[in-house]
Amino acid sequence: MGCGSATRTHPNTCSILGVVSIEYREEPCKVALNLVKGMPFRWSLNPYMGCAHRCTFCYVRAFEARADRPSDDRYGRSIRVKVNVADILRRELARRSWKREVVALGSATDPYQPAEGRYRLTRACLSALAEARTPVHLITRGPMIVRDVDVLSEASRRAEVSVTFSIPTLDHDIWRKTEPGTAPPRQRLRAVKTLVDAGIKAGVGMAPILPGLSDRPELLDEVVRAARDAGATGIWANLLYLRPGTREHFLSNLARDWPELVAHYQALYGGRAYLSKAAGDPLRHSVARLREKHGIADRRAIRLEPPHDVEPLQLQMLDAAAISATSAASDAATVAKGNDLANVPPVSRRSPI
Ligand code: SF4
Repeated sequence: MGCGSATRTHPNTCSILGVVSIEYREEPCKVALNLVKGMPFRWSLNPYMGCAHRCTFCYVRAFEARADRPSDDRYGRSIRVKVNVADILRRELARRSWKREVVALGSATDPYQPAEGRYRLTRACLSALAEARTPVHLITRGPMIVRDVDVLSEASRRAEVSVTFSIPTLDHDIWRKTEPGTAPPRQRLRAVKTLVDAGIKAGVGMAPILPGLSDRPELLDEVVRAARDAGATGIWANLLYLRPGTREHFLSNLARDWPELVAHYQALYGGRAYLSKAAGDPLRHSVARLREKHGIADRRAIRLEPPHDVEPLQLQMLDAAAISATSAASDAATVAKGNDLANVPPVSRRSPI
């Protein structure tokens, strides 16, 4: 890849609109790893900025709004491609000061969104992280990840690696209306199975669960059961949160698709971004019971693990809300202010199950 900037436009398949035009801006970066504060990990990495999946509930819309960039229907139609990110990452990982801390990949954008098929930046970054024996946690909705089983296997042999697939629901109607640019959730489940069968640690994050839609008991049960059948090594869930920027877009789509639920959401989220504890706890308990009922655990027949002489680093199934909020803020701050992360807020509202 060259070091100059270029812009290309490609059609992207969209589950509701058919085909939408996406602009790809090939812009080199100066920094690859973003410093994150107040989290169980300190570093995040996002090869792309903006996400062509364009989920209606996307938390990044809130950070886009704060940065004075479009957070409405225009979000995800212009993607920044950090064409040199793997070279910059290699340079950063080669520093003597690098302590092989966990790197969270894909917290502010999906690392396996359509652009990855062409640019292969996530794959190149995973190779660099493996060479540097750096632990990785990756979160995605993209089944394209199965292309990189070879790199993920090698990375898992050299450092702790875990992958989380975001699968909030298997309901076709809810998926189509809320995730216009993603592949069907059952494809993600097949990807879970492919990775787990290869010996890679891979679990499911049910996020975000939408009140009045994907929180129905039979739908929750369906996801947990399917995750168990796919061999998921763990599962967690998180509820929708609606910060300004995300809120307006989500509620306008809700009014279009489920107008009968608008009053319900206004009652639940009126004046607040998060559900109250009283409203959220029953769902958290339900998912915890389902996890026990279906016996979700790490049952891998093959376990790819680093040699014992590699210093163990506990890599947990990371809370998507926490990752997303902090790292999206990190990237937003990085884009807006160079690499000045002084304004990155700590995450104070997390609700892992
Ligand atoms: S896949 Fe993730 S980052 Fe991309 S639009 Fe959906 S929620 Fe946002």
